[in-house]
Amino acid sequence: MKRFFTVFLTAALLTALLLTGCTSTAPQEAEFFAMDTLMSVKLWGEGASTSDVSAEINRLEALLSATRETSVLSQLNAAGSAELSGDTASLLTQALSLSERIGGAFDPTVYPLVEAWGFPSKEYRVPDQTELDSLLSCVGTAHVHFDGSTVTLDAGTRLDLGGIAKGYAAQSCAELLKEKGVEAAILSLGGNVQTIGSKPDGSAWVVGIADPADPSQAIARLTFEDSMALVTSGAYQRYFEENGVIYHHILDPQTGLPAGSGLLSVTVLAEDGTLADGLSTALFVMGLEEGTRFWRNSNDFEAVFLTSEGKILATEGAAPFLSGCEYSVIER
Ligand code: AMP
Ligand code: MG
Repeated sequence: MKRFFTVFLTAALLTALLLTGCTSTAPQEAEFFAMDTLMSVKLWGEGASTSDVSAEINRLEALLSATRETSVLSQLNAAGSAELSGDTASLLTQALSLSERIGGAFDPTVYPLVEAWGFPSKEYRVPDQTELDSLLSCVGTAHVHFDGSTVTLDAGTRLDLGGIAKGYAAQSCAELLKEKGVEAAILSLGGNVQTIGSKPDGSAWVVGIADPADPSQAIARLTFEDSMALVTSGAYQRYFEENGVIYHHILDPQTGLPAGSGLLSVTVLAEDGTLADGLSTALFVMGLEEGTRFWRNSNDFEAVFLTSEGKILATEGAAPFLSGCEYSVIER
């Protein structure tokens, strides 16, 4: 009888453990629309819920959106000066220092150009050269005077943090989730993917790189086990067509035109989501040759380039994660 009871108790305990295990490995999942794109989140563990993530993203969008009249950024653009603190000050600091590091391909003052092409309003148009020349005179970080809290913009200069804000939001959510003690999570905010920890079932994270010809399909896969930010900038993500010409949303701040650097997309892999987002935009503008040179002089990111000729090239550190396609390796 005693033996039967012990066996029964052990079986009950095992069942309880398995059930507990099942509960902790079933992720919470949610999809929502924010920052003008579809977002999804999947998280494991008890410490946080998916609504913590959407609330954090909505909070940041309310500060950083260039199109919402009430945002801190729109008010700065309208008034030409503002006192910044917290997230707005931190993101502007990071955007300006990235721009300085890169030397102009990433420029948070492109907003007058972005507006002229009609991307925020979705009333697309092709501005003529005279208009572009006049707007280009207001573009450049020399027109931004920021001491860490007070910011003043020269007349006509306006800021757009759209090239880096989703990465900042993903990074903020990752930090929030870690603080709350989640076991693991994957955030997908438009072209920005960020993982936290390792999947509880021991399987790897698998993130697709969109096929520019059909973004609902993956052209390649990145497989890895830990925390990472993977951000893709691509011509296919936002564009319009006029008279048979495609005009996309990533602009070359030197010409005011959609960057024609011979790339269809760039995926950046880095520890930090904000950096990965800013760099993916910048590398797209730079193109393969200049981007490769920049990567050789850096040690905080890896990249996968898709060229207009249909070639896939991965930097040495990205190549071990890449599969499902033919590719060449860019060596140091
Ligand atoms: P992403 O999708 O992260 O590459 O960011 C593209 C968005 O960043 C555009 O929709 C614009 O709002 C903004 N943007 C476009 N060109 C640039 C640029 N050269 N530097 C910084 N931001 C840009
Ligand atoms: Mg970006």
